[in-house]
Amino acid sequence: MTAPKHIADPVAAACHCGTVQFEVTIKGGLQSARRCSCSYCGMRGAIAVSADLDGIRFLAGQDALTLYQFNTKTAKHYFCSKCGIYTHHQRRSNPNEFGVNVACLDGVSPFDFAEVLVHNGVVHPSDDPAAPEFAGVLRFSPQV
Ligand SMILES: [Zn+2]
Repeated sequence: MTAPKHIADPVAAACHCGTVQFEVTIKGGLQSARRCSCSYCGMRGAIAVSADLDGIRFLAGQDALTLYQFNTKTAKHYFCSKCGIYTHHQRRSNPNEFGVNVACLDGVSPFDFAEVLVHNGVVHPSDDPAAPEFAGVLRFSPQV
């Protein structure tokens, strides 16, 4: 969807408190930015880009990450145990991929994206292959 400027590859990334520091090689660039409407992502509210499992390199603080799993426990949702910020997750839809919080990426804001596609996470494609892939489009209209 409507994506912001070009960024470094790999791009530096960190949680809010800076304990967790990592580098990300984004798969498909910022155009891969998505949200998801499942019970967890809807509450979390983050926009995620994609990375291969070897596309994240931790520089510091990996031991400060906490893991959260629910339902089928296929997806692995990681967040910083100090500041609570979601950094990345291993996907249920594709366990060979991570989703990475765009807000953690150096120089990227979730408000850089005018439009973000929202994955249909309510009826997960893994539960019903005939379910629509997307639930809709989330839009941001800057006023300042
Ligand atoms: Zn932190």
